[in-house]
Amino acid sequence: MSGMVESTRIVLASRPVGTPTPENFRIETAELPAPAEGEVLLRTRYLSLDPYMRGRMNSAKSYAEPVEVGQVMVGATVAEVLESRDPSVAKGEVVLAYSGWQTHDVARARDVRKLDPAKAPVSTALGVLGMPGFTAYAGLRKIGKPQPGETLVVAAATGPVGSAVGQIAKIKGARAVGIAGGPRKVAYLNELGFDAALDHRAPDFAEQLKAAVPDGIDIYFENVGGAVADAVYPLLNTYARVPVCGLIAHYNATGAPAGPDRLPAFYGRILFKSLTVRGFIQTEFVRELYPDFLREMGEWVSDGRVRYLEDVVDGLAAAPDAFIGMLTGRNFGKLVVKVAE
Ligand code: NDP
Repeated sequence: MSGMVESTRIVLASRPVGTPTPENFRIETAELPAPAEGEVLLRTRYLSLDPYMRGRMNSAKSYAEPVEVGQVMVGATVAEVLESRDPSVAKGEVVLAYSGWQTHDVARARDVRKLDPAKAPVSTALGVLGMPGFTAYAGLRKIGKPQPGETLVVAAATGPVGSAVGQIAKIKGARAVGIAGGPRKVAYLNELGFDAALDHRAPDFAEQLKAAVPDGIDIYFENVGGAVADAVYPLLNTYARVPVCGLIAHYNATGAPAGPDRLPAFYGRILFKSLTVRGFIQTEFVRELYPDFLREMGEWVSDGRVRYLEDVVDGLAAAPDAFIGMLTGRNFGKLVVKVAE
């Protein structure tokens, strides 16, 4: 291939205050340089949309640098190699990359990972067999440690992290209680084999949860915070484990939640119930556990013990709206953008 390649890309136009709006994003085109020695030219097939991207839109550094205004939004991608200037990758191969919200990219060959389309649909490298699936696997193996007969609770349970958490817990012999928004998602949790499935929007959600966990809760895989966490904490058993994975109920917050200070009661529970509340970012476990994850999860997915759902939206231009919707539960399954065939 020769000549200039144009990339259509979505950049951060301005930083959101509270819930992001379409005006926080802008679509542009840019000419890409030809790949240099050791580089590859990529065409994006799938772009992953993930909750952590909301944090990157803020100016404050969290565990990662923010996206600067005017920069391409970050994100994992599955891409086709259009041109390679490195012996490790060939033209036509499909790779996992981190090109962000754009149609084309020039990347270092050593920063991409080859995918085998014969093993699993390549989009799964962004979901059940990728970062979110790994988050579930590692958070359970290192912190949650489900034992036979124990009770696990997880919210955002139809998403890629939560659905994997519940299904892995079942494989380990635990009872899994899934929480999701709305009847369609609750029905899907029942179909997946969760032992109980609850709608966090129900007015009597806290009572429903109490009834669903007659032996209390041994593991609360924390994906959301907010009202779900408020309902869960009083039900935690002595020695319960809480892998703190995400707090999506608060990602668009502009201030402290209303109501009384909950911190003393929270600490009191940690103390009197000997709780393990442990936050983690999945990257810390990659070196140690990624090979195990690919092997075990690969088997579970191919033998159907772990099922997955993808929510595929069409075209890069649809990314901002889909992303905004995910933060309040409009997605149903792992949200990916199909950027090209
Ligand atoms: P999902 O696809 O599950 O999307 C997020 C879901 O959160 C929404 O669909 C919605 O589902 C739910 N949600 C939003 N607001 C609320 C609320 N107020 N109360 C309850 N549920 C809410 O996302 P992922 O599976 O990709 O991510 C799940 C969590 O894991 C996120 O918090 C994310 O930040 C975190 N994460 C952390 C990682 C780490 O390394 N620590 C890595 C990857 C993800 P519903 O309609 O069911 O309410």
